[in-house]
Amino acid sequence: MTSDIYSPKNPIDLYPAPPFKPQQQDDTGTAPAMDPKPDHGEESYIGHGRLAGRKALVTGADSGIGRAVAIAFAREGADVALSYLDVEQPEGDSTASWVEKAGQKAVQLPADLSDEQASIKVVDDAAEQLGGLDILVMVAGEMPTVDSIDDFDTETFDHLLRLNVHNMFWMTKAAKKHFAPGAAIITTSSVQGFHPSPALVEYAVTKAGIANFTRGMAQQLAQDGIRVNGVAPGPFWTPLQPSSVPNEKIEVFGEETPYGRPGQPAEIASTYVYLASQEASYTSGETIVVSGGEPLH
Ligand code: NAD
Ligand code: MG
Repeated sequence: MTSDIYSPKNPIDLYPAPPFKPQQQDDTGTAPAMDPKPDHGEESYIGHGRLAGRKALVTGADSGIGRAVAIAFAREGADVALSYLDVEQPEGDSTASWVEKAGQKAVQLPADLSDEQASIKVVDDAAEQLGGLDILVMVAGEMPTVDSIDDFDTETFDHLLRLNVHNMFWMTKAAKKHFAPGAAIITTSSVQGFHPSPALVEYAVTKAGIANFTRGMAQQLAQDGIRVNGVAPGPFWTPLQPSSVPNEKIEVFGEETPYGRPGQPAEIASTYVYLASQEASYTSGETIVVSGGEPLH
């Protein structure tokens, strides 16, 4: 959509704004089925060697924010292991081809990350197949909407906790064994973790937990030379939305932000690049909000 990410442009009308066409998707959804199509930086991200020689694992790397991060990391010179669900293999293949087009190694590791052994195996396989690991980016997550406490379901919440929260502990523990000083962990919280919406209370609790994990684990791992930071996206145009929220919310998606539109995955990838890179050597425990001007702190 954009020719490059460096010439100044008005962010207000850089990308599509609501009203959007009604659209709903099953399971985790796919980006190609979205209208308009999300921009993951395929045509616009320009690398400058900021992650040259690094070896990164990115979860949720088939679509949305994870895909944009994988593309940006590869263009910055990192080899990238990509994790996603089995059913997302076609989009996973597509992300892998962009990593390879950037001249970097892509390792594909489909897995259900709500499972402990599967999560550990993804980390170990990434380290083995990349020949080491020094960046762990956790993007995978689900966002069930539950309008009323009358519909609270323990099984749904248990699953959500395992994927959005337990997985962070499992992967961090496994990655620490492969890490050397200078390594970086990046989590993905949400504006919901700070300002919860009434229909996303369960999700918002997990996202608050992720920001809190980031602050706490950063202190614990400082002595090992490992930085832990997070990114808190505002509304982003990804398959998570049409597969999680009803059409009345899709049609006005992003309207509440000062920019009046949702962000595109391409507009958040460089925040992950910064936090992963040595440029952020004195930054740990921070969660950076990327929300189209919506103030949080
Ligand atoms: P997305 O649907 O493209 O990515 C989510 C990914 O999570 C899926 O592609 C899938 O690979 C992965 N996933 C889901 N269930 C899984 C499971 N059981 N095992 C392994 N992987 C699984 O959507 P996205 O918006 O790019 O979401 C990425 C992250 O960003 C999520 O953590 C989400 O909570 C967060 N986030 C998104 C928004 C937004 O508006 N899109 C806002 C705030 C935070
Ligand atoms: Mg997906």
